[in-house]
Amino acid sequence: PLSSVEELKQRLQDKGVKYAMASYVDMHGVIKGKFVPLDHLGQMLRGSELYTGAALDGVPQQISDNEVAAMPDPASATQCSWNRSLAWFASDLYLDGKPFDACSRGILKRQTDAAAEMGYSFNLGIETEFFLYKDTPEGGFAPLSDRDTAAKPCYDPRLLMDNLPVIDELVEAMNEMGWGVYSFDHEDANGQFETDFKYADALTMADRFVFFRMMANEIARKHGAFATFMPKPSAQRTGSGAHYNMSLADLASGKNLFEVDGEDPHGCGVTPLAYHFIAGVLKHAKAICAVIAPTVNSYKRLIRKGAMSGSTWAPVFVCYGNNNRTNMLRIPSQGARVECRAADIGCNPYLGAAMILAAGLEGIRDKLEPGQPHRENMYDYSEKDVAAMGIETLPRTLSEAIDAFEADPLSRQVFGDAMYQAFVDYKRDEWNSYHTHVSDWEIQRYLKFF
Ligand code: GLU
Ligand code: MG
Ligand code: MG
Repeated sequence: PLSSVEELKQRLQDKGVKYAMASYVDMHGVIKGKFVPLDHLGQMLRGSELYTGAALDGVPQQISDNEVAAMPDPASATQCSWNRSLAWFASDLYLDGKPFDACSRGILKRQTDAAAEMGYSFNLGIETEFFLYKDTPEGGFAPLSDRDTAAKPCYDPRLLMDNLPVIDELVEAMNEMGWGVYSFDHEDANGQFETDFKYADALTMADRFVFFRMMANEIARKHGAFATFMPKPSAQRTGSGAHYNMSLADLASGKNLFEVDGEDPHGCGVTPLAYHFIAGVLKHAKAICAVIAPTVNSYKRLIRKGAMSGSTWAPVFVCYGNNNRTNMLRIPSQGARVECRAADIGCNPYLGAAMILAAGLEGIRDKLEPGQPHRENMYDYSEKDVAAMGIETLPRTLSEAIDAFEADPLSRQVFGDAMYQAFVDYKRDEWNSYHTHVSDWEIQRYLKFF
């Protein structure tokens, strides 16, 4: 209605906003958009901003095709803390007046709608691990603090203090937007941090996640630094996960349906419904992996030991268990939720959440059972050991992951034909480009070897 548009415009104007951004993401979950002077907010909210799909990765359009229109979600209006003249709006893409098949946000909405039809709302909290680095004169990169060199820098408050100018600004902005940050820390790698904030419905969380990456980078730049969301920037150290903490709530009452008040068949502290959800995710784990760990580099994180570090804390097998970080799916001791540890910070959260929710819902519909939980250190097993136990290994490369994605009928069902094909083609190209590149490692190893 017109009055609410006028109200929104007034509210933004009063806060000093001059431009609105009708924003959406490409296949990688990277934000794109045009800036619209606030005078044109009404038009923008009615879908005036058109985009040439062919300009973006993963928008399966020809240059000759009609443009896609961004239809902003007024509820997502967010003033950018680092540039207060700008307000950001998450949008859905439309083509010829209909929802565009290959819109990441639309793909997630189709699954949250499917959940709603079953009476559920999907709650998601994504943990954001990332690195803060500065460029070095030698053309490399380094942590911001010169004392951030220890082999075990995890939870070191001194390093957090050294980085506080950037992180404080980030956390303040998150809280100003009502995200409810409850802690932040220095993680296990030099220059690595994590900010944890309250879960939300999956769509809101995915909007926040893509905004977070843009914001962290913009704030870091103001301090002469940069934030990286490359999953594994250093072979010597742990990579950056984006653990998905998931639960289903009753749509009407908001009650967490993973919270036990009776039967807990596997003793991990969640309901039978949660175990069905887990079983569905395990069934489709390899295809899901291609989406939540979508880069060549992602698979250098999904290993048990780094070149120097004792452990990577990242999963290698398709299994679940109690509060045990060596499982792909962990059930933490608090919060009646399931944590997927395979996801990394380079994922497109809309696509990731859509795949994982679809798999979980299938588990519930088909009453799938996940088997026994793993309480032991899964890193102690070889691939042979786990195969004998009937447990599969997560894809070891992007190539394996794409094969699994392509072969699983769930992928096409969730992504739709156009996005499915665009994703497979793009990611195969990405793999081939990597695979045909001759690296320094090969030169070192083979040039004078024979
Ligand atoms: N950085 C680890 C990862 O790659 C996770 C560490 C943790 O459990 O917080 O997933
Ligand atoms: Mg962490
Ligand atoms: Mg975690």
